Amino acid sequence: MKKLLYSALIIMSLASCSKDSSPEDKCTGKTGGGGLVNLLVSPSDDIAMGQATVNSIDSNKTEYPILDSTQYNVAYGHINRITKNILNSGEVYYKDKFVWRVRIIKRDDILNAFCTPGGFIYVYTGLIKYLDNETQLAGVLGHEIAHADRRHSANQMVKQYGISTLLSIISGGNQSQLATLSAQLLLLKYSREDETEADKFSVRYLKPTEYDGRGAKYFFEKLIATGQSGGTPAFLSTHPDPGDRVANITQTWECLGSKVGLTFDTRYAQFKTSLP
Ligand SMILES: [Zn+2]
Repeated sequence: MKKLLYSALIIMSLASCSKDSSPEDKCTGKTGGGGLVNLLVSPSDDIAMGQATVNSIDSNKTEYPILDSTQYNVAYGHINRITKNILNSGEVYYKDKFVWRVRIIKRDDILNAFCTPGGFIYVYTGLIKYLDNETQLAGVLGHEIAHADRRHSANQMVKQYGISTLLSIISGGNQSQLATLSAQLLLLKYSREDETEADKFSVRYLKPTEYDGRGAKYFFEKLIATGQSGGTPAFLSTHPDPGDRVANITQTWECLGSKVGLTFDTRYAQFKTSLP
């Protein structure tokens, strides 16, 4: 009997091993919600950190002029469709647990997008106008979604504050402590490893969609071609060299056996004209 149970355990562990070595996990690293931080900080804690950041953003309309979603409902229709296509890939671990709400920031001078913990996504008009097609934007959005889905910010905050202090700030409701935390989240620089992982997961998220999984690569190539890879765009303020990132994305795309997807140029041109 005991022997039988032991064999059953072996079979079960073998089954879980084979799941871990799926092509996706082999090419991008395992999914599963961000490793150790997943055990320490709950998804609702991430949303609370994200909400505190949203409050800081909303209170600073000069730095973050948010495009009105009623007045510009056509533009929001476009950005929401692209985001939904990525979220429905079946590859986003916290798809149903995080908020995944998008806001457009009306700043033509900034080539950037970011996502707070818990999935509050922000995209600058400067980035949307700079890009040429929907796949490029999907690639960048996939990258930002990956930072939240892989819980990179939460991980850094745990390292910085320690788990008990962080959780007491989140649950304590002390507004000034939360404001400090959100200010830190807005200035956060991701590590080289986190940037590389986010690039890989962007390819992974896009693979089941109609988009070309290398969307983010085309963005980096455009930055290199237009001579803007010198560190000026906020998207590149962290370490990995754009050339290395192009190589990493191509490698991941090949490893996953992805197809050549579509770019949706016409639809994207309509998106751009719907912006102020
Ligand atoms: Zn990033």
